[in-house]
Amino acid sequence: MNTAHAALPRKGVDWAAIGWMLLFFWFVAGVTQLMLFASDSNGWRGLRQTFLLSGFWLIPLLLFPAQTRRLAGVIGGVIWLLSLPAFGYYLIYDQDFSQSVIFIMFESNNAESAEYISQYLAWWMPLAFIGYGLGAWLLWKKIRPVYLPRRTAIIASVLIAAATVGYPARYIVKTPDFVKGISKFEERLSSVSPWQLMVGYHQYRHQLGNMEELLSLNAKLPPLKNLVDANAAEPSTLVLVIGESTNRQRMSLYGYPRATTPRLDALRDQLEVFDNVVTPRPYTIEALQQVLTFADEKNPDAYLTTPSIVNLMKQAGYKTYWITNQQTMTERNTMLTTFSRQADEQVYLNNNRVQNSRQFDGDVLAPFGKVLNDAAPRKFIVVHLLGTHMSYKYRFPAEYDHFTDRQGAPSWVTDDQLPTYNSYDNAVLYNDFVVASLIEKLSAKGGRDMLLYLSDHGEAVFDSPTNDMLGRSEGAPTAPMYTVPFILWSSEQWRADHPADFSAALGRPYSSSNLIHTWSDLVGLSYSEFDPSKSLVSADFEERPVLIGNPYVPKSLIDFSLIKPKRQIALDDRKLVQAAPIN
Ligand SMILES: [Zn+2]
Repeated sequence: MNTAHAALPRKGVDWAAIGWMLLFFWFVAGVTQLMLFASDSNGWRGLRQTFLLSGFWLIPLLLFPAQTRRLAGVIGGVIWLLSLPAFGYYLIYDQDFSQSVIFIMFESNNAESAEYISQYLAWWMPLAFIGYGLGAWLLWKKIRPVYLPRRTAIIASVLIAAATVGYPARYIVKTPDFVKGISKFEERLSSVSPWQLMVGYHQYRHQLGNMEELLSLNAKLPPLKNLVDANAAEPSTLVLVIGESTNRQRMSLYGYPRATTPRLDALRDQLEVFDNVVTPRPYTIEALQQVLTFADEKNPDAYLTTPSIVNLMKQAGYKTYWITNQQTMTERNTMLTTFSRQADEQVYLNNNRVQNSRQFDGDVLAPFGKVLNDAAPRKFIVVHLLGTHMSYKYRFPAEYDHFTDRQGAPSWVTDDQLPTYNSYDNAVLYNDFVVASLIEKLSAKGGRDMLLYLSDHGEAVFDSPTNDMLGRSEGAPTAPMYTVPFILWSSEQWRADHPADFSAALGRPYSSSNLIHTWSDLVGLSYSEFDPSKSLVSADFEERPVLIGNPYVPKSLIDFSLIKPKRQIALDDRKLVQAAPIN
């Protein structure tokens, strides 16, 4: 009986055959995402996309079962071929492919990228490509047709289309702005071959267009009036280091009980540590629009109509450089990339599409050293770090995983919160290494040099017993989101040439939105738009409200210095579990 039964054609749906089809398409579309996830370079977003979207290719196979093998071969082959750039990029860089990679390919000169890639090529990489192809071929051989009644096949296809591409396509309908809707839809396809390359290229063209528009606006701005340089023609290297998501209250340099900044602590006698500086806004782009230009909370759009700090330094005759470990060609970061493109030279180190990707700031040290050796006598270098941006665990290498238990952590931190609390401190510890290394490199060069380090904004990481806030929220502000480190280092030669006593300035309440005035003052530049009363280090400094909040809702603006110290506690008490994943 049994043998006779087995010889009969299968009844019902051949689920195993469907399983092989899914596995085949998932393999050619998503194996890179699996490796990225397994090597802990990325979260699971990309992997989830591949599971969802590879099902789409069942449709032609179910509708035309007689052609199953051939269709699977052609479609799978195309997907496989288009997945190779991302596969290779992963092998070389251990990172996800994105529109920023395309940007870098067109940006950097080819000799340089070839040299860079050759450093990472290994003998086994061609074997990996062969293995990848072989795996696809073996899976393809398992493909067999699934015959469904015509009606069933059509209904199944409609359902599959709705569940795979239809699900992310809902953004096109849901989002009022069509272009934004398309962009959101694209984002949901962006990790999966064959869409990855197409979306990457489209996003690259789109962001490039936005950026070029901003750059041409900037190029048309009139220069600053009556610029006088007190240090004209003197050779020097001036460095502005912009940190990320670092709350100074978590730095031992500022009194935090855990030794999170041992290297800066050791350099303490060479530093001017300003301890009352506050960012106007708790988000990178919105903060830097003010920090790097003449814009502030009262004139938030002035970043479009006035020169930036890069424009200023260029006008003063410095050769300008921008080294960044922030993402480049993402929609959010267009403004940052625009600032960077105002400089003479750029080094882009972070091509990740998703901010929650492993990326270490130590990468800035080598290009920084290279720029220091540049022959230009007067240099202005901006170093933009990824700092302590979430996810904190992606911000430091294993050897900086130093705070691992309760020791030194406040008692209110719960067991659930402790790993996050500790990993933030470890990120601060690694940031200390990076900032101190930049200072040491500059110092070793031995010149008439200066470095200013500040963070774009702070970050709330379980900082008080009554607040379980993690991240930042302008609508529910707490002090740790705003209190930033502000540290000045200068070489002996600089100090000899510019003797200054900053002791009266260290505790002044100050908004980093006025940084351009302090910077101008420090480097000896004056011009009609310069306002010494807005310079933190000027004898003419005037205390004014330190405004925080959304400048486009003027009623929401509050004076940070008035809420200290009493209201600060009240602010800390506000409850909000919402994290702000943006930079
Ligand atoms: Zn930021």
